[in-house]
Parts: sequence; structure tokens; C-alpha cells
Amino acid sequence: MSAAQVVAVVGAGIAGLSAALELQRRGAVPIVLEASGEVGGKVRSSDVGGVPVDEGADSMLRRIPHGVDLATAAGFALVSPAVGSASVWTRGALRPLPTGTVMGIPADLAALARSEVLSAAGLLRVPLDLLQPGTPPLQDISVGELVARRLGREVVERLVDPLLGGVYAGNADLLSLQATLPQLAATVGQHRSLITAARAARGTLAPGPVFAGIVGGLGQLPPALARGLDVRLRTTVRGLSRTVLGWRVETGSAADPTYLDVDAVVLAVPSRPAARLLTGHVPVEDLEAVEYASVGIVTLALDGPSPGTGSGYLVPAVDGRTTKAVTFTSRKWGRPGPAVVRASVGRYGEAADLQRDDDDLVAVVLEELEAAVGPLPRLLDSRVTRWGGGLPQYAVGHLDLVRRLRTALPSGLAVAGAAYDGVGVPAVARSGVEAARAVLAGDR
Ligand SMILES: Cc1cc2nc3c(=O)[nH]c(=O)nc-3n(C[C@H](O)[C@H](O)[C@H](O)COP(=O)(O)OP(=O)(O)OC[C@H]3O[C@@H](n4cnc5c(N)ncnc54)[C@H](O)[C@@H]3O)c2cc1C
Repeated sequence: MSAAQVVAVVGAGIAGLSAALELQRRGAVPIVLEASGEVGGKVRSSDVGGVPVDEGADSMLRRIPHGVDLATAAGFALVSPAVGSASVWTRGALRPLPTGTVMGIPADLAALARSEVLSAAGLLRVPLDLLQPGTPPLQDISVGELVARRLGREVVERLVDPLLGGVYAGNADLLSLQATLPQLAATVGQHRSLITAARAARGTLAPGPVFAGIVGGLGQLPPALARGLDVRLRTTVRGLSRTVLGWRVETGSAADPTYLDVDAVVLAVPSRPAARLLTGHVPVEDLEAVEYASVGIVTLALDGPSPGTGSGYLVPAVDGRTTKAVTFTSRKWGRPGPAVVRASVGRYGEAADLQRDDDDLVAVVLEELEAAVGPLPRLLDSRVTRWGGGLPQYAVGHLDLVRRLRTALPSGLAVAGAAYDGVGVPAVARSGVEAARAVLAGDR
């Protein structure tokens, strides 16, 4: 009988933990090496106003099952958001987010008109899409460029950009259609109109709730996943080298290095540390070029009922506010206790707001919240979380970049995580599973 393969998993975010669990399930021996003092990476929670609240991710898309599968296998009960409706704070008022869109690209023109998110001129421009000759993109294109060309600039600015910004903290004019909206990219070439392509893409969606959370917050997930795994915290991986039979992983300080010899390695870290560790093994220029957006989450606990209506609202960048989105967290998840509101600030290319001090950020978020929803209950507590380099930006051509990288990787080395195949928790969990399978199969 051959000995079980020992695999180093670098990074204990969701991608690394998911890879390690898959390795273990398949009879290998994963050793998870994590630079920080805790597991979970961008998924963690801490108390605000005496209740645990997620500092980063708080919900998972159900369509990619790997997130909810991890949570249910770890024994968590799933919850769906208690309220579905959201708004857009634009042109001086809170307006309902139109239903029937694909990331803000309208499939239902009546719902778009009812929402009054667009100006009269912006709304009139949209149906021209149905009359224009088809322009199927032969290659990748930015979401903003395609939507502006077909539906007009206002749809980009007031719908697509804030919704995509909610996921990537990015700019629709820079984000790749193929990498960020794969279902739409698949249908767009088959339809003359973008509106009908959006209708077709919506038709592929399963009915039922789109998102899931776990009772008490997603932050509980990583420690539960790590139970039963060999996780070595405060262990920064500084180098990787080939040995005759596998890989040597270097940790510790430069003056006093420690080595771990393994059969294979899964790199589940953001693109910059991945590029450093891959230097000398594959060309890393592509990976070094992946940009990240820094974002902040300002969490408020208020002494009274949740303000506003619905689950929250988005704020288009063109409206010139510091706040980019607001979630009425306690209402969204039907949680008892103080009213908890989470606001996100900062996005790609706009890091200046994150340099303000905490009190200043809380003050501006409160002021803008009050301007949007009216007088607020007394502030009980607040927390500011800064995620420097929080979200990778999938630029046009991102899928080719990832393909090139994976093709170049030597056997026994695989990459996983938000830099590659989707930034959401379920996509990242899936990439961990696939990386684990790849190293065990001897591919990348
Ligand atoms: C504010 C915010 C809100 C979000 N909200 C949602 C949401 O609601 N739903 C959703 O699905 N997604 C959301 N996301 C995205 C999602 O949380 C992340 O993309 C995902 O958790 C990233 O997981 P990961 O494992 O790829 O990387 P990370 O979580 O970044 O983990 C990487 C780990 O590697 C470690 N590491 C780095 N270098 C080394 C090294 N050299 N040696 C050892 N360890 C190293 C790091 O310390 C870290 O723990 C959000 C992200 C942010 C920032």
C-alpha cells in the first residue's frame, strides 16, 4: 500500500480550508500553514453592540453549492434573508432596485420604468438595444463598455456599477464580462439584443432564495471547518522549492528558516503572495498585474428598531457619496437585539476614504444614512474594519490569464482562492476542492 500523500495548504481562508477538507476526505494528509493568528481570512466576525456581526462576507450564493455544502457538512443551519427588496439611493431619493435584472442589466423594462432609478432620458435610451444590429463580443469586453453601447451610460452608472461594485468593489468599465458574468457572457452571442440575452440568462436561474447565511453569522464557519485539521497558525510561507520527490516549503525567519517536505502544495493565498512564492517556477507577470480593491465596513449598532426599509440600498458612485452600500443586517437576517447596520466604503481606485480615522468614517456614514432614511435611533456601538487589498479585480482577459497560469504550473502545485475563479465564498470553496483534486491527480 502506498503512503498517504502529504500536502501543504498555504493559507487558511475558505479556499485553503476547503482544499484541506477535500484532501482529507480523499485520504491525503493536509497541513495548513496560515500567516495570521486565526483561520478564515476574509470571513470572520466580532461583537458590535454585544452581538456577533460579520466583518467581511455575510452571505453565500446558493447557485454554486460548495459554500452551503461546507456549512451544512459542518452542522450549521442555513438561513435565507428575511427580506428580499433593496433600493438604490440615487437622484436624491431611495428608489426600489428594479426586479428582473442580471447584475443590473434589465430584462424587464416595465419594472425598470416603475423603479424610477433612471432619468426619463436614460430610460428612453434603453429600448434602442432592441433596434440596434447585434454586436456579439467575439472576445472579452468590459461589462461597462458592453452595457453602455447597448443600453446607454445611465444603466451602467446607476444599476450595473453599484451592483457589480457590491461584489467586487470595482468599476464596471474595467471588469471582465466573461469573468464576472459568465452566464450572461454565454448567452450574449446568441441574441441580437442584450435585454433578450439577459432574459435568457435569467431563465437559467433556479427558483427560490438566491442567498444563504448561517444562524449567528458566516464568521462561525472557518473555526468549525478547521476543527480536525492540522492548522499551523502564525506560520508564513516564504519560499517553495522542488525536491526530488515533491516540494520543500520554507517558513520561519530568513535568519532561522524551517523546512517542511511534502508531496504537493496548494497555494490558497491572494495573488501577490502567490506570485512571490511562484517566482522561478512559472512566469508571474500576469499574476503580479492582478489589482485589488481596498474596502472598509462600518458597522453600527443602534438603540431601536432597524431604520429604512428592505434589506438595504446601493449608492451609485456618480452620486458622489462616501457610502457605497448599506445593509440593514438585523432586519435582513431577522436577528433580535439592537438594530445593526453595515455600510461599505471605498472601492477600486478610491482608497482615500479609508485613510480617514474611525470616528470620521462613522460620522460620515451616520450623516449619509440619516440623509437617506431620516432620523436614526441613538448609536450604541460602532466598528470599522479595513480590508486592505480585500477584493481582486477581474480585468478584461482575466480568464485567459488564469488559463495561462494553470497551464504553466508544474505537477504537484495548484492554486486556489479569490484571485482566480470567482471572489464569492462558494466559488472560492469550489476552487479549493478543485485544487485538492488536481494535486492528487497529478495535474494542476
Ligand atoms: C468586505 C468584504 C465583504 C465580502 N462579502 C462577501 C459576501 O457577502 N459573500 C461572499 O460570497 N463573498 C464575500 N466577500 C468575498 C469573500 O469573502 C472572499 O473573496 C473570500 O473569503 C476569499 O477567500 P480566500 O480563501 O481566497 O482568501 P483569504 O480569505 O484572503 O485567505 C487567504 C489566507 O492566506 C493567508 N496568507 C497570505 N499569505 C500567506 C503566506 N505567505 N503564508 C501563509 N498564509 C498566508 C492570509 O493570512 C489569509 O488568511 C467579501 C469580501 C470582503 C473583503
